[in-house]
Amino acid sequence: MSESGYNPKEAALQQLAETAERIKLSPALHEKLKQPKRTLTVAVPTVMDDGSLSVFTGYRVQHNMDRGPCKGGIRYHPDVTLDEITALAMWMTWKCAVVDIPFGGAKGGVICDPKHMSRNELEHMTRRFTNELLPIIGPAMDIPAPDVYTNAQTMAWIMDTYSANHGKVMPEVVTGKPLELGGSLGRDTATARGCAFCLVEALKALEIAPDRTRIAVQGFGNAGSYSALFAEEFGGTVIAVSDSQGGVYCSQGLRVRELMKFKQETGSVVGFPSSDRVTNEELLELECDVLIPAALEDTITAENAPRLKTKIIAEAANGPCAPKAQPILDERGIFVIPDILASAGGVTVSYFEWVQSLQKLYWTAEDVDHRLRDIMVRAFDVIHKESTKYSLNMRDAALNIAVSRVAKATKLRGIYP
Ligand code: NAD
Repeated sequence: MSESGYNPKEAALQQLAETAERIKLSPALHEKLKQPKRTLTVAVPTVMDDGSLSVFTGYRVQHNMDRGPCKGGIRYHPDVTLDEITALAMWMTWKCAVVDIPFGGAKGGVICDPKHMSRNELEHMTRRFTNELLPIIGPAMDIPAPDVYTNAQTMAWIMDTYSANHGKVMPEVVTGKPLELGGSLGRDTATARGCAFCLVEALKALEIAPDRTRIAVQGFGNAGSYSALFAEEFGGTVIAVSDSQGGVYCSQGLRVRELMKFKQETGSVVGFPSSDRVTNEELLELECDVLIPAALEDTITAENAPRLKTKIIAEAANGPCAPKAQPILDERGIFVIPDILASAGGVTVSYFEWVQSLQKLYWTAEDVDHRLRDIMVRAFDVIHKESTKYSLNMRDAALNIAVSRVAKATKLRGIYP
């Protein structure tokens, strides 16, 4: 549980309970979907550079496999908890169902502080964590991907450890790999690209001209920085961005590519020339058209929701809105593109990567982008129609569709034995 008392697992279960009621899910199916299929907690002993031994705790939670193998990222963060990973695994199940790709949901994490670990230590920890996950991951079982503070290099270590243990090259065990090892073109920018495709559809629905939008982005990592870049590319003005050290603001617009370079060189966006400093809290409350939370959970709360001055929230992060914030946003007419839709571009291109790795046949960047656009626009459209038809917010509409799809698959497969 976070300092604010927010517990992501409780939030995910509450969402499921409300969805079950709306779609009249049978109590038996509700009970099945409440529980993760499998939860694994492992000790990850790692020899540090100074010769000492650190024993990290790692988790992998597989929520559901009824629509296909489990899919979900692995995060490295000091605040990782089992409840958080459990909630994120459930959200992955819904996310894959929202975009209708043949995967279930999983998530993993290691409690560690990657910012204070060397590359060597991260490699040893990753390889040992992979070793502990060997019995439950695999191309037809559970396919990890990058998440907070993990990246293509982390996936390369996982792929290599898994392959070494199986005596054959198995790039299809992970997605988000480096291109040289069978990664997909467009995977590194896919989450943000998917978010931008949804955003364009939302702007159309709300009749807001893209070149008039003022955008604030919280979190300037993979999802956030490319979301800012694509928003700029479709004509929007990115007025503020932030990372864990704080934020920067410029009412005339920040030049996103320069900002990306600056962050790469200095480690933070803070101090970017010709910008004013803002705190993360201030950034959320800036006057803008689009707010993109792209950092961690529980960013938009019942406390700050009444003060937000945006028209649209595009949730590039997983779980950035606390459940108590949503009714306030609804009342204030703020249009939310929920995480299970707005951040589904990453897992969609992960699906493309898995297909390509299995077939050993690689697609062009244009092919990936077209297919991603088709899936995102179709998913947005289906959810927007459901939302209009039943007067629901986009989150409830997306959950209705996702949980119904998963429940249908569960029913068709039946309960073994
Ligand atoms: P990342 O590690 O690349 O970036 C995270 C960013 O958030 C960093 O810039 C960091 O400085 C910033 N940050 C951390 N704590 C912060 C705080 N308290 N306030 C403001 N900024 C803070 O991670 P990412 O992959 O971009 O993931 C970000 C979010 O997007 C997560 O919720 C993740 O689950 C979600 N997501 C990522 C992907 C993906 O493909 N990368 C896919 C779907 C969802």
